[in-house]
Amino acid sequence: ATPTAVMVGTGVGASQGILIKGGQALENAHKVNCVVFDKTGTLTIGKPVVVNTKLLTNMVLREFYELVAAAEVNSEHPLAKATVEYAKRLRDEENPIWPEARDFVSIAGHGVKAMVRNKEILVGNKTLMADHNVALPADAEEILAEAEAMAQTGILVSINREVVGVLAVSDPLKPAAQEVISILKSMKIRSIMVTGDNWGTANSIAREVGIETVIAEAKPGQKAEQVKDLQASGQRVAMVGDGINDSPALVAADVGMAIGAGTDIAIEAADIVLMKSNLEDVITAIDLSRKTFSRIR
Ligand code: ADP
Ligand code: MG
Repeated sequence: ATPTAVMVGTGVGASQGILIKGGQALENAHKVNCVVFDKTGTLTIGKPVVVNTKLLTNMVLREFYELVAAAEVNSEHPLAKATVEYAKRLRDEENPIWPEARDFVSIAGHGVKAMVRNKEILVGNKTLMADHNVALPADAEEILAEAEAMAQTGILVSINREVVGVLAVSDPLKPAAQEVISILKSMKIRSIMVTGDNWGTANSIAREVGIETVIAEAKPGQKAEQVKDLQASGQRVAMVGDGINDSPALVAADVGMAIGAGTDIAIEAADIVLMKSNLEDVITAIDLSRKTFSRIR
C-alpha cells in the first residue's frame, strides 16, 4: 500500500472510533489469523454483580457483607466493586461507613486479605484459601461448582481461617460477543480466550460465546507467554484486552487492541484502541487493514 493509502486507512479508522497508532499496526492487522481475547471487561461487560450468597454459619447477611465490604472497599478489582455495591444495597445507603480494615493486602489474581474487628478476613478464590491453609468445606466446594457451571464466579469468604460464606458474581457476555467470534471464524480467524478467572467459569463462558480454546487461571505474565507461544508456532496474533494485566500481552502481540473503556495502561500498551469499546470493531479494524493492503497484492 502507498503511504497515502495507509494515511487514508488510518483516517477512516479514526472517523469510526478506531485509533490506529501507526502504519505498522494497520499493516499487521490484515495478517492476523488468531485473536486472543481477555475475558473480563473484553468479552464480558466487565461490571460484575452479586447474584447469590450462601452463608455456611448462622451469621447475618448484613454483618457478613459488612466484613466483606470493609476488606474489598480497598481493592480496585471489579469483583471487589461488585461486593461493595451489594453491601451498600443491603445497608440501603449511598455512602455507608464500613468497619476499619487494617493490614490490607491485595493478592493479585487471588483476592484480598485484611484485619477487620480484630479478625482476619480473606475474600477470594480457592488458591487464596489454600495458600492460607483454609480448609474448603464440601458444601462450599459444591456451591462453587454450581456457580461455575452457570458461568458465574464464586468468591470464598473466610473469617479467622474458616470459610463462612460463598458469593456468586455474574458478569454477562457483551451482546455482540457471540457474533464477533462467529464472524471471525468465517474469516478463518481462530479465537482464544485467556483469563485469570477459574477453569470452571472460564469454560462455561467460552462455551456460551463459541470459543473452543481456553486458558484459565492465567497470571499476567502467562497471557504474554501464551501470545509468544502462538507466534512461535507461526500464528499472527492479535490480543484484545482492557486490563493492566493484559498489557504485557498487548505489547507482545503482532497487533494489540485495547478496549477504549479499559485501563490507561492497556490503552498505552496497545497498537489499536477501540474507542467505542465495541467488540465488533475488532473485525472493522481487520477489515480496514485488509482493504488497505489488498491493493498491493
Ligand atoms: P481476571 O482475568 O478475571 O481479571 P484476575 O487475575 O484479576 O482475573 O483475578 C483472578 C481471580 O482472583 C478472580 O476471578 C477472583 O476469583 C480472584 N480475585 C482477584 N481479586 C479479587 C478480589 N478483589 N476479590 C475477590 N476475588 C478476587
Ligand atoms: Mg479484563
